[in-house]
Amino acid sequence: MLGNSIIGTTGQGGKLVAALVAMLAGSVLPAFPATGMSWTVGTILAIAGYALGVALIRCPVCKARWFWDALMQPELYKQILSHPECPECSRASATEKEPD
Ligand SMILES: [Zn+2]
Repeated sequence: MLGNSIIGTTGQGGKLVAALVAMLAGSVLPAFPATGMSWTVGTILAIAGYALGVALIRCPVCKARWFWDALMQPELYKQILSHPECPECSRASATEKEPD
């Protein structure tokens, strides 16, 4: 799914998956008493997952935090998740850096 997106081409799909798993686990697991997770812990886990995703998934060239930017401009989500260019600097990936 992310293969041709800027997330996939910069190898950050794993961070996105980890953030989503933490958010889902924190939102769902407390509903099942057998997991032993309280709603407080679940909420903290969900928020931490989201915050880590926002903080860690960024452009390797211009350091833009894509999901932070998308909080203010929701239309950026589509570009982040489906286009191979950074919405800030339009670079396809770190491997295409210009020589110094
Ligand atoms: Zn960039």
